[in-house]
Amino acid sequence: MTNFSDMYSPDMLKNLDTPHKLNEPVPRSLCTDCGISRTKNPSRCGTACQFIKPDYPKLETQIHGRERNESINPDELHFGAFKRIVRAKLKTPSEGAQWTGITTQLAEQLLRNGLVDAVIAVKPDASDRWKPEPVLITKPDDMKQCRGMRMGYAPTLALLEPAIEQGYKRIAVVGIPCQIYALRALEKELGLEKLYVIGTPCSDNTTTENFHTFLNLLSDKPETVSYLEFRADYQVELRFDDGSRKEIPFLKLPISKLPGDFFPTTCQTCVDYTNALSDITVGYMGGEGEQWLIVRNDRGEEILSLLGDDILLSQTGSKGNRKSHVEGFMKNVERSANGLPLRAMPDFVRPIVAWLMPKIGPRGMEFARTRLEMKAIETILHLRRKAPSKMKNMVPEHVWKLAKPYGLEREKDTEA
Ligand SMILES: Cc1cc2nc3c(=O)[nH]c(=O)nc-3n(C[C@H](O)[C@H](O)[C@H](O)COP(=O)(O)OP(=O)(O)OC[C@H]3O[C@@H](n4cnc5c(N)ncnc54)[C@H](O)[C@@H]3O)c2cc1C
Ligand code: SF4
Ligand code: SF4
Repeated sequence: MTNFSDMYSPDMLKNLDTPHKLNEPVPRSLCTDCGISRTKNPSRCGTACQFIKPDYPKLETQIHGRERNESINPDELHFGAFKRIVRAKLKTPSEGAQWTGITTQLAEQLLRNGLVDAVIAVKPDASDRWKPEPVLITKPDDMKQCRGMRMGYAPTLALLEPAIEQGYKRIAVVGIPCQIYALRALEKELGLEKLYVIGTPCSDNTTTENFHTFLNLLSDKPETVSYLEFRADYQVELRFDDGSRKEIPFLKLPISKLPGDFFPTTCQTCVDYTNALSDITVGYMGGEGEQWLIVRNDRGEEILSLLGDDILLSQTGSKGNRKSHVEGFMKNVERSANGLPLRAMPDFVRPIVAWLMPKIGPRGMEFARTRLEMKAIETILHLRRKAPSKMKNMVPEHVWKLAKPYGLEREKDTEA
């Protein structure tokens, strides 16, 4: 069996297509360095950035033919426009993948079937496997180098210009929501013949440096951690180079030991958890232990069809009631947004609640709805405190609607 650390050894990584020397980013106030400020025309950030004045209804209509519409399906308020949402797993999981490897397999198949000339994705940096480094892939087999989740920001879109300069006109991009927003906002001016977009959900990202601080708190051998995931059963799973595993219930995570600026304002106030402008979103939130796909449009169906019988699809389930969980979360965010420490649960209660959560907590689609509402609340409360002047333009209508049942409304912020 290939060892994870061998798979991503510097020797393996250097066999990939041309490394590209990227320009330095232009400093911006709220920025996740998606790569646009490193292009020849960095002023395009003004129209492309998710953190300035995003226009989801316009771009959803441009990409999916319509904006999200609760009367078509009430879940569109939470997850954006879609044709179907399913649970999924690859029959043969890919070695080294974050889940079963659907994301990298889809991109691989786009290349293998000649539908695209190149894929822009990220691979692990040769000196730090947790750091994402953008890469332009043209050989299907090289997609395996991109397996697994990295923590941090990759200037993925800085590779658009080199790709187009090399004559690639049919491109696939794998990315997180803030990257995909900028990509879609600029899509028309890129002059591509075809663009396929495979998105993953994203939340609670931080710099790779900060992430190492977190790993140091979770393990006394942090340099041997090869995998980390926040699972939908309320556990964090860690895997190590020697093949061992460790599971830590969310409630027992050392969150209170993290520095106050651990999560950048961008990720605390991000407005698109589920990558609403992708053709297909590959996540796990509503999958109850399996992967979870949001197929948003015909192109998303086309991408998915490339896996044929190699992928097993099933109907999503839904259990529990999110209301009290979201309310409890909101109280904690209010405390931390006001600079107060998170309310600590007495030590003797923690194991009991940690045991109970997977049994009584929301599951499947209800878990996913819970996370979306929590995220909307977090966005509003943190932005109000940290960048109130941004409230008027940065928070889209769907985020307000998700937060409304919890007493958060737009009125107070519109005059800012
Ligand atoms: C920071 C972060 C937070 C996430 N949070 C959630 C969440 O809360 N809920 C949820 O359902 N899913 C979340 N995901 C997505 C999830 O972790 C899996 O990546 C996804 O389900 C795909 O699994 P897979 O086995 O198909 O991926 P693989 O086949 O292993 O491929 C992983 C793909 O992710 C891309 N990638 C990895 N790291 C990054 C990065 N830092 N920036 C951009 N692209 C990257 C790679 O290019 C690769 O193509 C998150 C992903 C990231 C990067
Ligand atoms: S568009 Fe990208 S590079 Fe520009 S400010 Fe926004 S996140 Fe930063
Ligand atoms: S949480 Fe949002 S802002 Fe932060 S990296 Fe993910 S998509 Fe970008």
